[in-house]
Amino acid sequence: MTRQRLTVLGATGSIGASTLDVVARHPDRFEVLALTGHRRLDVLETQCRQHRPRFAVVGDAADAKYLAAALSGVGTEVLAGPAALEQVASLPEVDTVMAAIVGAAGLPPTLAAVRGGKKILLANKEALVMAGGIFMAEVARCGATLLPIDSEHNAVFQSLPHDFAGKLESSGVRQILLTASGGPFRTTPVERLADVTPDQACAHPNWAMGRKISVDSATMMNKGLEVIEAHWLFNAAPEQIEVVIHPQSVIHSLVQYVDGSVVAELGNPDMRTPIAHALAYPERIESGVASLDLFKVMHLDFEKADLARFPCLALAYRALAAGGNAPTVLNAANEVAVAAFLEGALPFLRIADVISNALDAVPPQTLADLDAVMQADADARSAARQAVGRYARSRG
Ligand code: NAD
Ligand code: MG
Repeated sequence: MTRQRLTVLGATGSIGASTLDVVARHPDRFEVLALTGHRRLDVLETQCRQHRPRFAVVGDAADAKYLAAALSGVGTEVLAGPAALEQVASLPEVDTVMAAIVGAAGLPPTLAAVRGGKKILLANKEALVMAGGIFMAEVARCGATLLPIDSEHNAVFQSLPHDFAGKLESSGVRQILLTASGGPFRTTPVERLADVTPDQACAHPNWAMGRKISVDSATMMNKGLEVIEAHWLFNAAPEQIEVVIHPQSVIHSLVQYVDGSVVAELGNPDMRTPIAHALAYPERIESGVASLDLFKVMHLDFEKADLARFPCLALAYRALAAGGNAPTVLNAANEVAVAAFLEGALPFLRIADVISNALDAVPPQTLADLDAVMQADADARSAARQAVGRYARSRG
């Protein structure tokens, strides 16, 4: 069998590590050509020693020098910076790119993989939120294959017909139901949310993830971003996407058909399942995840999402309805607000205020090209930083 040759963008993160775990189980199927990581050079070094990629990419020249010295004799060439990320995402020898960099920084290399016509395993939902129209047009133009890694979207993908061609109605689909765990604060009294700490927000009940997405799960902005992601991936109108709180995270999402059928994907909450699914698609391979034991699960509960408790979810629906640059602004302002929260510079309940401020401050615009996306991203970041600064001054 010819082996699938991979680039893993964001190898040192949670999704990156889960990807390499699945890959290591199938040395006959996969060959790692490039790994990238921004910090945690020790983790990247260990990964390079194990997988012996041709390239490793780090953030800057000083880190590259350090890692190259540490890896002498391993046969891995160490590169640095955003251009190198794009280079390893589009190498002619690469078949498949795992896009698992967190945030807007993931867009340029993911787009480079799209333009290289690769099979893209998309974890980096922020890329689709900030530039969905341009991204999907490039996927079609360049003949790239896009497979969702986000567990909900992977579940929807698995629950849609195999020949789904981007038309929900002609596939008999009535609605997409995206499940959400509700995060660590689903039942916390709202008045107690005022002074929750980053560590409390990152302690997700069901999933172990990077810190940014963990905070997004606590505010439910993660589900908001996923609604927008579903809109682009499945060509679904906002009213065709409903959020269902399901605290056990066993049903990863569902598709409702016009005949009354509801098709869903269930499993233990472990990202190696969607990763293995997408890596081997359309085949099935071992992922290291145990089968779901329904007798242990016992109960599956469902609730409506409370938009007063989770204003970030409402902001995401607002941005999707507005279209144009609004989702770009939403995403960038959220990144700034979450970073400020993680640094202790913004209380949890102000995250939504900062995003709402940015949505008000940046004038609506259509997104003609990538430059317009980057401009909206920059304008939103500056509006959000000002809002964070105003908050700090009002307290100090
Ligand atoms: P993480 O924080 O654990 O890892 C992020 C990775 O991105 C790291 O390798 C880091 O070095 C790299 N990175 C960060 N900033 C960078 C920059 N400026 N330039 C280059 N590389 C940079 O995050 P994660 O939890 O693995 O999530 C990765 C992506 O997958 C996110 O978009 C997230 O929304 C999505 N996702 C994650 C999960 C999960 O279970 N962790 C589930 C669904 C979707
Ligand atoms: Mg998800």
